[in-house]
Amino acid sequence: MSIASNLQSIQNELPENVTLVAVSKTKPVTDLMQAYEAGQRIFGENKIQEMTEKYEQMPKDIQWHMIGHVQTNKVKFMAPFVSLIHGVDSLKLLQEINKQASKNNRTIDCLLQIHIAEEDTKFGLDDAELQDLLHSDELKKLQNIQIKGLMGMATFTENKLQIEKEFGYLKKLFDRYKNTDLENCKMNTLSMGMSGDYQLAISCGSNMVRIGSSIFGGRV
Ligand SMILES: *Cc1c(COP(=O)(O)O)cnc(C)c1O
Repeated sequence: MSIASNLQSIQNELPENVTLVAVSKTKPVTDLMQAYEAGQRIFGENKIQEMTEKYEQMPKDIQWHMIGHVQTNKVKFMAPFVSLIHGVDSLKLLQEINKQASKNNRTIDCLLQIHIAEEDTKFGLDDAELQDLLHSDELKKLQNIQIKGLMGMATFTENKLQIEKEFGYLKKLFDRYKNTDLENCKMNTLSMGMSGDYQLAISCGSNMVRIGSSIFGGRV
């Protein structure tokens, strides 16, 4: 199967309201260009340096999503061009994104990452931390960011019920906060679902899926 046909068959089965992020981490630009030529314009990367290198080489109508964990000291490299940062999990990081966005005279869209998996290794805020962040006065001062929604990664398991429970929990949080009415926080995006679980994620209410290996093949 070619990249173009993989993309096509995934696009065909996605409901209209679901946005596909093609996760291209570790893949060469030639692979990304195949997806681009097949019409894909949203790419997800998990390393800032790799994303920046690809950005420089590729057409400028691409929207670049940072889906990995973000180190504060590297925000400046992607601030000129990043379209959406999925993995934001602290006020400190939001403040840095705001600062760098401001330097570039732009607003940067962010998703807050929520810890929904059993594994400790996955990053993200818990319910109480999310609540605190959204109610903090510090957040209101950040004029160069927009919080667009939530993101989460389920536990790596074959147990569908477990995954469903985690996605259901994230959807519940999203529903609770989607009507939050702050100047810089209006949530409409729920980023959940990867190659192995995106159908389930969509049935649980996801409207943005991040799919890598089902499009580009496995990673070594
Ligand atoms: C790698 C990655 C994906 C895509 O994973 P696949 O299983 O290849 O679809 C999605 N989200 C995040 C955060 C990732 O790091």
